[in-house]
Amino acid sequence: MDKYENNIYKAKGKARRVGIMGGTFNPIHHGHLVTAQEALSQFNLDLVIFIPTADPPHKTDGSIASMEDRYLMTVIATASNNDFFVSRIEINRKGKSYTIDTVRGLRSVYGKEVSLYFITGADAILEILTWKNTEEIISLAKFIAATRPGYNLAKIEDLKAKLFKNKREGDDKIFIMEVPALAISSTDIRNRVRQKRPIDYLVPEEISHYIIKHGLYK
Ligand code: ATP
Ligand code: MG
Repeated sequence: MDKYENNIYKAKGKARRVGIMGGTFNPIHHGHLVTAQEALSQFNLDLVIFIPTADPPHKTDGSIASMEDRYLMTVIATASNNDFFVSRIEINRKGKSYTIDTVRGLRSVYGKEVSLYFITGADAILEILTWKNTEEIISLAKFIAATRPGYNLAKIEDLKAKLFKNKREGDDKIFIMEVPALAISSTDIRNRVRQKRPIDYLVPEEISHYIIKHGLYK
């Protein structure tokens, strides 16, 4: 366990229900924050750990801020929330991030007693089938799929039917959570910065200052 993970563990040493929000966070925005907060409350989590990716396998469009900038923005955006933490577990590992390695790492930090809840957008959870070691991931963690109200759940139900023998098992592993702020995306924020359009209220104020100060996404 490295120093950073140790600090998170100590801060919430008695944690039993841990939310995990992985992402590029390029940049982090209010959609991520609202989703984490909603998961914390709906699922009675003790904390949510944000995990910025090092070198995301699925994103290669060149407009990615450095991992230290993304990490720092994530720290800044979550600093005022006592239940939000940021992990360097993927950044320190370097190279491509695979969910299985992160889940195994968190399991070894938190032990068997803790329930790990992966919080993702509904679309991201559908990619689970393209991840390595799907079965092992599912045996180690549960999933909270954030959807916007009115989202068509058919694809998620299909996925559950494919992965689990019976519906009860699936319903205990993959949960749907409606979140109102889902239209916000980092892609839109980067485009807005490039086009000199406002990003106020889409990201925390400190994040728009950080982006300007460091000349990101121009
Ligand atoms: P990009 O536009 O570059 O793909 P993004 O806004 O989707 O970025 P990511 O860092 O890719 O942000 O997302 C991290 C996690 O947060 C993923 O699980 C994603 O599905 C989820 N997510 C992204 N945007 C939202 C949002 N507005 N509301 C809830 N969850 C979101
Ligand atoms: Mg995305």
